[in-house]
Amino acid sequence: MILELKGIYKNYQQGKITVPVLKDVNFSMEEGEYVAIMGPSGSGKSTLMNIIGCLDKATEGSFKLDGMDMQNCSENEMSDIRLHKIGFVFQSFHLLPRQSALSNVEMPLNYARVPKKERRAKALKALERVGLSDRVDFRPNQLSGGQMQRVAIARAIVNSPKLLLADEPTGALDSKSGAQVMELFKALNDEGVSVLMITHDPEIAAHAKRVVMIRDGELKEKEVKP
Ligand code: ADP
Ligand code: MG
Repeated sequence: MILELKGIYKNYQQGKITVPVLKDVNFSMEEGEYVAIMGPSGSGKSTLMNIIGCLDKATEGSFKLDGMDMQNCSENEMSDIRLHKIGFVFQSFHLLPRQSALSNVEMPLNYARVPKKERRAKALKALERVGLSDRVDFRPNQLSGGQMQRVAIARAIVNSPKLLLADEPTGALDSKSGAQVMELFKALNDEGVSVLMITHDPEIAAHAKRVVMIRDGELKEKEVKP
């Protein structure tokens, strides 16, 4: 099991008011699965993603990632897990604007203290993987939206993560670039990477093998394809 969430609650504190956002979320994902989470704006999708991505902690409940109990982890352990087990893809790419595609992709390897030569080789390979070998020296403002997202995907996979997390990965893209992103996710999943993707687009969700709905912080399985 790559993910195991049991009885997860998340409250935000707004001054004296407690805002309940996630309510008794139970969710498991086998290694190698491809799951989409769908739900309207404000339903708690990003909040859930932040917990699963070890960026934030639940208020209550148990959360295991790759068999490790994350709920009682320290900040250091959480960042270590993020670095080595998870790749992130965001709607707005989150690339460093002044850095080349290559430097952006190398970034996680710097944090992981990978030697420079190896960094370069791995980053070039990841960029080749997403079809951007001819754009390695381009900065984000010299790339199209679809190309920027492919740089972000190269950055997400450069450290060979077990789990790929994507929050509205096609939300800012035209349909052709979106289709390229979906092709890449499928190829990565075929290679054994577990993929968890948030979207509000049913056509995008249809690329996943399982769809889960979230509404008002409550999760419901939608369908399981054979
Ligand atoms: P989604 O990604 O599905 O649009 P979010 O997870 O971003 O939804 O937000 C879910 C709810 O939690 C919203 O009502 C939002 O206002 C609230 N929320 C999110 N982050 C915070 C925060 N840091 N403090 C207080 N409330 C928050
Ligand atoms: Mg969101």
